[in-house]
This record gives sequence, C-alpha cells and structure tokens, in this order.
Amino acid sequence: MDAREAALRRAHDHALRWLASLSDRPVPARASVDEIVRALGAELPEGPSDPADVVDLLATACEPGLTAFPGGRFYGFVIGGTEPAALATDWLVSAWDQNCVMRAVSPAYTAAEDIAGAWLLRLLDLPGDSAVGFTTGATMANFTCLAAGRDAVLRSAGWDVARDGLAGGPPVRVIAGEDRHMSVDVALRYLGLGRPELVGADGQGRMEPEALRDLLADGRGGPTLVVLQAGDIHSGAFDFFTETIRAARGADAWVHVDGAFGLWAAASPRLAHLTEGCADADSWATDAHKTLNVPYDCGLAIVRDPLALRAAMGVSGDYLIQHEHGDPADKVPELSRRGRAFTVWAALRSLGRSGVADLVDQLCRHACAFAEGIAAIDGASVLNDVVFTQVCAEFGGDERTERVLARLLDDGTAWISGSTWHGRRIMRISVSNWSTTDGDVTRALDAIRRACADA
Ligand SMILES: *Cc1c(COP(=O)(O)O)cnc(C)c1O
Repeated sequence: MDAREAALRRAHDHALRWLASLSDRPVPARASVDEIVRALGAELPEGPSDPADVVDLLATACEPGLTAFPGGRFYGFVIGGTEPAALATDWLVSAWDQNCVMRAVSPAYTAAEDIAGAWLLRLLDLPGDSAVGFTTGATMANFTCLAAGRDAVLRSAGWDVARDGLAGGPPVRVIAGEDRHMSVDVALRYLGLGRPELVGADGQGRMEPEALRDLLADGRGGPTLVVLQAGDIHSGAFDFFTETIRAARGADAWVHVDGAFGLWAAASPRLAHLTEGCADADSWATDAHKTLNVPYDCGLAIVRDPLALRAAMGVSGDYLIQHEHGDPADKVPELSRRGRAFTVWAALRSLGRSGVADLVDQLCRHACAFAEGIAAIDGASVLNDVVFTQVCAEFGGDERTERVLARLLDDGTAWISGSTWHGRRIMRISVSNWSTTDGDVTRALDAIRRACADA
C-alpha cells in the first residue's frame, strides 16, 4: 500500500468512527481551543511526517474539540447536515481535484453543473432559463445576485459600472425588510451600495407590502433594488411575494430574494404555498449546505437573466457576447474553486423529487413537534407561527430563558442557540438536519424539560 492509499484508508476509518458517534455523543465539544492546540502541537516540524500518521494525529487530537454539527440533535443557527451520497461524493471531489473554470477542460464538471442547475430550477419552481452559479454560501450568493442586479439597473439608466465604476453614476436605491438577514447588508457593503432603506415588518418578520408601496411612491425613482426574504431566521416566515413583487415591478426595481434555507419550501407540495409568487423575482440566493444537506460549502446564486449575471461575473464581462452556455466561471466571483455541483448532483440524484419534498416536510414536522412539546411545558411559550423549520420560545422572562439555555447546553443532549427577538431573550430552534429522528426530538424535549425543572 502506498502512502497515499494508507492515508486515505486512515481518514476513511476516522470518518466512519466520527459518524457512528453522532447518535449518542454529547452535542457540544468537550475540549477548549487551548487543549486542542496542545494536543496538535504548536511547533511547525522541521521535516516531513508520514501522511497516515498526520491524519491519525489530527483525528485523535481534534476529536474532543468537535461539535456534533452533523448529528440529529444540533438545532442552533441554520446548519444542515451531510446527506450520505453528497458526503461520499465530496470525498471524490477532492480526489478528482478538477479545475471548474472552463467548460471545455472539465466536461464532466460542466455536465454535472448543467444537470444539477436544471434540476434545481425545476425543484424550486423557478424560471427554467435562469443561470445557476455555485458559490461558497448564501452570503456570496446574495452578493453575486445583487451584483447582477446593481449592474442591470444601472445599465438601464445608461450607466456602465464595469467600465466606469460607481463614482459619478446615478445613485442606486436599495430597499430591504427590517428583519432581513445580516448577510444582505454585508453583500451590499461589498458592492459599494451602503446600508439599505428599511421597510417595516409584521410580527413574523414579513415586509409590509403597503409600506413598500408607499416608499417606492415617494417620487425618488431611479435605479432600485428590492431585497425580499424566503425564510426569516427567527420565525421561518416568508415575505408576501405576490404583493411586494407587484409593488417593486411598478417601480421597475430589480427584485432579489434571500432564500438561504426557505426557498426549499417550493420543493414540497405541502409547503409550496409559502413561496407563492416568489418565482416572479429577478434573482434568488439559497444554500445547498443548509436544507439540502450537502457538506460545506455550497450556496446557489440564481439569476433569471443569464446575460445579466454574465455581465457582472463573466471573466470577459461583455454583455453582448451571444454564447448559448458560457463557462462555469461566468456565474460566480471565483475562478479556481471546488467542484460543488458534483455534490449537489449526487444529493438530488439520491433523493429524487419526492425525497427532497420528504426531507423538507420532515424538517418542518420536527419543528412542529418541538413547538407542541414546548407549549405544553409550564411557564413556556412559543412566540412565532411555526410555518417552516424555525421555533422561537421563551420561558418566563429573559433571565429564566437564559438559565434554561445554559442548563440545556450543560446537559449536552441537544445544542440550541439563544437570540434576541422583538426585544426578548429567546430560545431559537432550527431543524435542518436530514438525520434528525422522532427519537432525537423526544430526547431534546426531555432535555428542555429537565433544564426548565431546575431553572
Ligand atoms: C444562513 C443564511 C445566510 C447566509 O448563508 P451562508 O451560507 O452562511 O453564507 C443568508 N440568509 C439567510 C436567511 C440565512 O439563513
């Protein structure tokens, strides 16, 4: 066996052991950063080491410092897990190590990207001619889509950003809901567009369509971007797409939807009503590493007008190039990058249309079970309408909620993050892992009840 094969076999063994530990291990890491640094050794060695030994050292030293993110009892942030076909394919992606810049040089990658892109548009019920770019995550997908939008609205106003930059051009007006995700602001900052003007939201975080209409009717006009949301990070709520998009169209605005985890509701016949009207937007950002459960990292930047995306991201940057397909590099900020579409293809091929719908339905069903279980606890209340995968709860005031959260984390059965929502400290549950079982939810609810009993 050569050194490479030995190292790969060792990594395989460690990976299987880690995955097998997920059903029973405590979710939080058990070691601190300093402890892991000591175990790894901070000194750069003078000379080479055997690759398999390096893999052993890393796996053994890191094991106590790993959080069980890909397990069924992690409900913090919005994380996703690793669906088996996608995880296995991700290993192969590293072994293949394809450069995914050009159509002609890795026909295999380009084929996988074309097929996965077309399947995604069908599943998410988006216009079939849209371009699909594979980014690192939804932050960069928001950036990519908003770059296409910025350039397009300025082009319509007779201004060529690619040639002349932003300085001296017409101001671009950006409007977003007050409960947008912070990555929207980050993307706007990268794009030189500053802070968005905010439109008020209702109790679930949905932009008020009337308020958007009023703001757009203030007579300022000019190049305008409107940013909507599919899936509020707290409530899971979806904007009123039909009304808001109609208002935005009246002002000739480019409409972008941040649907990092929520856009996937469209793949479920039971939940598709949540995204109704959403397909009328101009661009959509989502993640494959959240709801679809592919490993990190994979976001998706989807733009209705492929030429608008190519004008913003294309390496040649010429809007007038009439090329039926273009290159993968024409759709995202990076040139060299990982073959992410292979992994997405594998997840979709493995799940099929009904498998994706079942996955989304299952996440939502578990969230409802959490809400029911928590509502039945004395002194606890669920604060949001649980329409998707998110549950916000409080336990009788900020201080007691904090104590419940701290006890729960000490207990280690489940990992759930706190947040502040509408001025109150809350427990915020997000169900995003394919492998979460009914039993996992029962165990997590038992842990919440234990945490309440001594808080
Ligand atoms: C997670 C998230 C993002 C950012 O996605 P990354 O993949 O972490 O870059 C943006 N918007 C929403 C609504 C999210 O949930």
